[in-house]
Amino acid sequence: MTSASHDVHEPPAQLDGFHEECGVFGVYGSDEASVLTALGLHALQHRGQEAAGIVTFDGAAFHAHRALGHVGENFGADSPQMKELRGHVAIGHNRYSTSGNVNPFMEIQPFSSELAFGGFALAHNGNLTNAGKLRASLIETGSLFQSSSDTEVIVHLVARSHRADVTGRLTDSLKQIEGAYSLVCVADDMLIGVRDPYGVRPLVLGRIGDSWIMTSESCALDIVGASHVRDLEPGEMLVIDSDGVHSHKPFQTVSPRFCIFEYIYFSRPDSVVEGRGVYHARKSIGAELARESHVDADLIIPVPDSGVPAALGYAESSAIAFDLGIIRNHYVGRTFIQPTQKDRTDSVKLKHNANPEAVRGKRIILVDDSIVRGTTSRKIVTMMRNAGAAEVHMRIASPPTTHPCFYGVDTPSRDQLIAAHLSIAEIASEIGVDSLAFITVDGMYRAIANTVRDPETPQFCDACFTGEYPIQLASGLSAKRVSHGSAA
Ligand code: AMP
Repeated sequence: MTSASHDVHEPPAQLDGFHEECGVFGVYGSDEASVLTALGLHALQHRGQEAAGIVTFDGAAFHAHRALGHVGENFGADSPQMKELRGHVAIGHNRYSTSGNVNPFMEIQPFSSELAFGGFALAHNGNLTNAGKLRASLIETGSLFQSSSDTEVIVHLVARSHRADVTGRLTDSLKQIEGAYSLVCVADDMLIGVRDPYGVRPLVLGRIGDSWIMTSESCALDIVGASHVRDLEPGEMLVIDSDGVHSHKPFQTVSPRFCIFEYIYFSRPDSVVEGRGVYHARKSIGAELARESHVDADLIIPVPDSGVPAALGYAESSAIAFDLGIIRNHYVGRTFIQPTQKDRTDSVKLKHNANPEAVRGKRIILVDDSIVRGTTSRKIVTMMRNAGAAEVHMRIASPPTTHPCFYGVDTPSRDQLIAAHLSIAEIASEIGVDSLAFITVDGMYRAIANTVRDPETPQFCDACFTGEYPIQLASGLSAKRVSHGSAA
């Protein structure tokens, strides 16, 4: 394990601007490859809302469409672009990043290029921690980059590899890469899926009739009626062609470190990741939180939507009534997507409103999945007091977020993380609650995996809560991480 202070190499400043939370989908062997991909991306919309793209292969040529905005706006079943996306193989990508791009259109994945061996298309979920150094040396030796995305480094490395076959070239490239990646690629009439050796980000295999699917979450299999075959293993490369599915393990084995935040917030509650239902995990966290930090109250109120399953678990375990004291407007994006602090503050109001009938005169416990900057909590607590709540307590279904993520989940720089600088008592006074508690790290492990955290080899990547980064970070990366507002 490598700590954040491990000296590796210097990243260029721009690396800090592009951290992507994304969703990927790939299908092999369907006449409706592009339709299945559009549906899959729609199910994964929560993983990225800035842009979406689909690339198909029809046995002779590649076809692509990329667009800013939501999947439904750009990949409607009868749209002219869907008719152009011919072929039995397709990959697609939802993108979250929003800031720092000179030309956001150039950042939209899948990336596709004509390489020496033929066409190659790639979609990536994760974040590469040594992309800056690799990019600098590729540029020095003649590569022309089209985007500022770390993902494009992989394409250039594949192009330069001397290996004869595509899977060899991809393996060559990924052996030079550090960081978190779940990839789907199309080349040479094959669909290739790869998970990094730590398995930080999810990737699952599904089947529908004679077609195969690889995608970020099982909810994207459900929407097309595919069965969930299994998760790809950490470090596994699955190659799917007309002969079927071939599994390779090209990397050195390390202890897996799946991202625990996928359970807390990022994955959809109806997905099953790494063999665990996300909804069940969230409810268990709520129940554990109630055991760890009981407080007398009249009502449990979830902060919708992400706090709902934990609040239900809390209510069941504490036998306190559950009610909807906050109503969410579903027609605004995630709070985080706004580019400035002011916009973000206003958008909390756009997104949530009090339901005074439920809360007036009541001692309430608000349950949310996390506190990052404290913006949401502060607004919601004020809203509850204005609606007449007698007492406002808050319970958080994750430990304090003290460190930024460098493996593909958007978190602001450390200076903006409220828990990096304030004690729990100070946060409580800052957001204006009568009491505040976060689940403990061990409580979170108990709830999700029925075990406590092994300090020698933690079972998950929990760097955002512990500061222990399993994959090397370029020197100074954590210290240097600049505020990037809306970037993901
Ligand atoms: P904040 O207002 O900065 O404290 O953000 C906390 C809220 O943002 C919580 O209600 C979470 O549901 C949500 N949240 C936490 N992490 C993320 C993330 N990485 N991306 C988007 N939203 C998040």
